[in-house]
Amino acid sequence: MNCRNCKTEIIEFFSLGQMPPINSFLKKEEIESEKKYNLSVGFCPKCFLVQLVDTIPPEDLFRDYVYFSSNSNYFLEHCKEVADDLTKKLKLGKESLVLEIASNDGAQLQYFKELGIPILGVDPAENIAKIANEKGIKTIAEFFNYNFAKKIKGEKINADLIFGANVLAHVPEIVDFVKGVKEVLKPNGTAVFEFPYVKGLMENKFDIIYHEHVFYYSLIALINLFKTADLEIYDVEMTPMQGGSLMIFVSNPGVFLVNKNVKELVEKEIKSGFDKIETYQKITENVSKLKNDIVGLLSKLKSEGKKIAAYSAPAKGNILLNYFGIGSNYLDFIVDKSKAKQGLYTPGTHLFVYPLEKVEQEKPDYLLVLCWNITDEIINMAELKSFRAQGGKFIIPVPNVRII
Ligand SMILES: [Zn+2]
Repeated sequence: MNCRNCKTEIIEFFSLGQMPPINSFLKKEEIESEKKYNLSVGFCPKCFLVQLVDTIPPEDLFRDYVYFSSNSNYFLEHCKEVADDLTKKLKLGKESLVLEIASNDGAQLQYFKELGIPILGVDPAENIAKIANEKGIKTIAEFFNYNFAKKIKGEKINADLIFGANVLAHVPEIVDFVKGVKEVLKPNGTAVFEFPYVKGLMENKFDIIYHEHVFYYSLIALINLFKTADLEIYDVEMTPMQGGSLMIFVSNPGVFLVNKNVKELVEKEIKSGFDKIETYQKITENVSKLKNDIVGLLSKLKSEGKKIAAYSAPAKGNILLNYFGIGSNYLDFIVDKSKAKQGLYTPGTHLFVYPLEKVEQEKPDYLLVLCWNITDEIINMAELKSFRAQGGKFIIPVPNVRII
């Protein structure tokens, strides 16, 4: 496989084997025909881009997506903050246009709209774009790429801010994508992207690896990528999203002074070896230790007759369950707040997804928290008050196993 940016041959360093599409929840009759695809990650020794070795065609992944951004309170708070901060930082107003790529159900754009700034969303999932439009968030159901960018530019659409959270990691044709960004960005505009930071892989957060995430970015790789489209990264921030994300600020070269954050993070990455394959090769051993810890704990609890349930079935959770071989062998049941997942079976492990009330009814001794990145929100949930009061405990699996 050749690098999706610079075409150099990539070196594979970690494999999760065959995995199902991790956001595709199944009806009972679909279980038997469930497909699996290779999931392994490689490193480009020339431009340092960490990427999947194989991908599933995006049409198979995104057309009927069950993830609705607006389901998490924590996420919504973050969206509001982002809208406030960017509006100030970039001096946006009612003459500006905010274009969001992969805008989902409009969770982010609604806050720009509240501030009186014109908005436009683009999202390939037709079911979700429909919901956004019904809520008054104008959304085009399309994939964003160079051709699409050229088309809307022809319709006089030019953005002061292009925003994309969790999209930069998802697009296999990434060079075409960043050229599209260049095309619709105003000469003095800024493109802002937020995505899980590659550093997570070195901190046991291997569950950010799934077929939708084609890329795991370091800043040094991103600088090379945006150069390909004659764009420059002028600022970078760390955010707590997804257990550790980067937010980058991109413009035409020379428009803004490059903030010292950029240089400092580049130096830090070089010091940490993000430009060397050996750094990434350590991941396999680290994750195998984590597997032993988690499976060891679950086995012990099972042998003591404890009842264990899993809390929520996000993509990362399904990766963890599949890769560690945790299913009905250890778990009594799984619950998820999302109505779109309830009544269906989890990909790969085929656990029936119950609503939260099941915890109240069955009174498990332990809840394995698969959305560990929002642990604080989960352990304080009002719906789990009686679980806590009855002595129920939470198992947090990543980055290291903890019981709370
Ligand atoms: Zn490369």
